[in-house]
Amino acid sequence: MFSKPYNFMSFWGVKIGIDLSWIFIAILLTWSLAAGYFPYYYPSLSSSTYLLMGLIGMLGLFGCILLHEMGHALVAKYYKLPISQIILFVFGGVAQIKQEPKSARAEVLMAIAGPIVSVVLVLLMFYLTLLGVYVGWPVQVTGITSYLAMINTVILVFNLLPAFPLDGGHIFRGLLWGWTQNFAWATKIATRVGSGFGFFLIFLGIFFFIAGNLIGGIWLAILGLFLRGAALASQTQFYVGEALHGEKVIKFMQQHPIAVSPNVTIKEFVEMYVYQSHHHIYPVTDAENLVGYVGLNEVKSVPMDKWETTSVRQVMVPFSKLQKVSTETSALDALQLMQKGEASTLFVVDGTRLLGILTAQDLFKTISLKLELESAARR
Ligand SMILES: [Zn+2]
Repeated sequence: MFSKPYNFMSFWGVKIGIDLSWIFIAILLTWSLAAGYFPYYYPSLSSSTYLLMGLIGMLGLFGCILLHEMGHALVAKYYKLPISQIILFVFGGVAQIKQEPKSARAEVLMAIAGPIVSVVLVLLMFYLTLLGVYVGWPVQVTGITSYLAMINTVILVFNLLPAFPLDGGHIFRGLLWGWTQNFAWATKIATRVGSGFGFFLIFLGIFFFIAGNLIGGIWLAILGLFLRGAALASQTQFYVGEALHGEKVIKFMQQHPIAVSPNVTIKEFVEMYVYQSHHHIYPVTDAENLVGYVGLNEVKSVPMDKWETTSVRQVMVPFSKLQKVSTETSALDALQLMQKGEASTLFVVDGTRLLGILTAQDLFKTISLKLELESAARR
């Protein structure tokens, strides 16, 4: 559900991406509209009409969600909070903001902007439906506008639940934060309520399903899973941010990592390094200067009968392609670099001199130790 989203357009410098789950939802939604909702409310139309109405209804909903998210994005822009991208997934979208809001006021305003757009959309669709009925538009048109009025109302109500990271949860956190001036406590409470609410929706969905309301049950369970996953993800993100806040790379890096000379053969490398110390990646150094790294992937690219005649220098990933940081780089920046790039190992250098290496495990080991000690201390 949280795989890499596919970017399909961008405006005002904000990238819009679709999570793969949206494609699944789009199909499920079109099908429930074309086979259930529209035939129920508007009987005796042809099945191709229902399909078309379903498609337009789905695309209309998609557009409404996009507008809702743009509402958040505009306020974020006003407060100069960099938005990296908006991702559309299960029931709505998420505007990814690189930083936490700077004040409780900014948080509340940014969170409420989306629901305000939704209110406008509900009123607009409701008005169009009334106008259409009055003027005599075909039922295929008013059917879609009345559906959009209804579904935007549902989105509005769902989004206003005080369950983080839904909009209502952000508003809730902003209010708690403004009231207590304690951002950490407000986040803890809001994310806990969010994941608890997700749990509740999953159970409610299962209950509906068993009681015979299959479609409604599935929708509720999907919403619950989404909400719970998102709440736990924001909880983790918060704890990680808190644990690493203000820390520098030097505190976490492995000093004096085992390094290989570029002149050893692959055979020597495998026997004397890989089988001895079981690491996946080794920096290659020439008189303390980092010249590249070699790992299992590079070894695998060489056929075994060439191992004795190939040197590490011939297969290593060169210095220019390494992810390098300094000892003074902030740990959070380092983590972001790891998440962006493909390699999870960063090389800590001073110019070309190798000072250490930093892996995601190094960071997470420290984070989990910190959490364990602090939660024990709270008991
Ligand atoms: Zn929203």
